Amino acid sequence: MQKKNPPILVTRPSLPPVEEYEQLVREIFSSRFLTNGGAQHQRLEAALQEKLKTPNLRLFTNGHLALECAISALNLEPGEIITTPLTFISTTHAIVRCGFTPVFCDVEPDFFTLDATKLEERITPRTRAILPVHVYGNPCDMAAIDRIAKRHHLPVLYDAAHAFGVTLHGRAVASFGTASMFSFHATKCYNTIEGGAVATKDAAYAELLNGYKNFGFHPDEEIREIGGNAKMNEFQAAMGLLNLKYFDREIEKRGKVATRYRENLSGIAGLSFRPVRDGVTQNYAYLPVSFDPQVFGADRDQVSDALKQYGIFARKYFNPLTSEAACYAGRFDPAETPVSREASQIVLTLPMYADLALTDVDDICEIVAGCKK
Ligand SMILES: *Cc1c(COP(=O)(O)O)cnc(C)c1O
Repeated sequence: MQKKNPPILVTRPSLPPVEEYEQLVREIFSSRFLTNGGAQHQRLEAALQEKLKTPNLRLFTNGHLALECAISALNLEPGEIITTPLTFISTTHAIVRCGFTPVFCDVEPDFFTLDATKLEERITPRTRAILPVHVYGNPCDMAAIDRIAKRHHLPVLYDAAHAFGVTLHGRAVASFGTASMFSFHATKCYNTIEGGAVATKDAAYAELLNGYKNFGFHPDEEIREIGGNAKMNEFQAAMGLLNLKYFDREIEKRGKVATRYRENLSGIAGLSFRPVRDGVTQNYAYLPVSFDPQVFGADRDQVSDALKQYGIFARKYFNPLTSEAACYAGRFDPAETPVSREASQIVLTLPMYADLALTDVDDICEIVAGCKK
């Protein structure tokens, strides 16, 4: 097999036909309205409220600032926020940058989402909120988490960066908890170049989000919050409108890629596809597989290196754990979350995007299977 040139990266953004984007850029140019909630922004907010089945959605310039604004808008006393360490560093950074102490709860061994059976033992008198993550698009056990949170009068803010379009038993993920944050970064399965959103049932909370993303300004021009600047601009919103138009088609293509991987790699001892929770409609955001080195004969890192030699770049999502990042050295004990730690050692996310050629999937699978000893 020849080395891939250009290389195959773990993901590649979906893009609409360039002529359609040009058309919207022309509209933006003639309006001279570039940001601050212009026509494209208004159209996208309305369209996404419908797509994600939420009464209130607010757009942001990226997912991370959406998360920071969402935490700020909860108006919490200083204290702790419970989260999981098996996630992109953004989740933990947002908690710390907002002045809170992250407290790490371990994940479930199957779905790698917050283990609701271990949640209550993490709650202390200083707990202010719960911030679970829908890892790889696998929704958390939201009913259980929401139930525990309610009992303790705690808000739940879901990091739904991976879960755009996902439903659980027909119910949109955004309908759970106090609020959900989505990321529309270029590497996610739905993109606005850079971008993000917060969805919530609470209209008053959505008003606060407007303030936090725009220096605290409200329509009456009163400055009510100490907000920053996290607004989405018109060019991002235009990309979002077009990518939304093609979203279902893109997910269908991702589904075919996922099926091909399964056909090629199922039944190999020591290699397993990560399970998906019952009742989930998937968005195929990632393709996580795990390796049991004792049975497979090679470990995750060796498989990753073998792919690299052919110009194929899988990713070790999420290694290190956020609690092990250099900037947090000495602050957290990763041994307190053993399931997360194990997951971070065994999972490899293989290349996954709508336009990934099935022949390339076959080549990737051949290399992966060839690592078996
Ligand atoms: C991508 C991501 C974010 C941050 O979103 P950006 O849009 O890149 O700022 C936060 N949490 C998780 C789990 C993510 O994967």
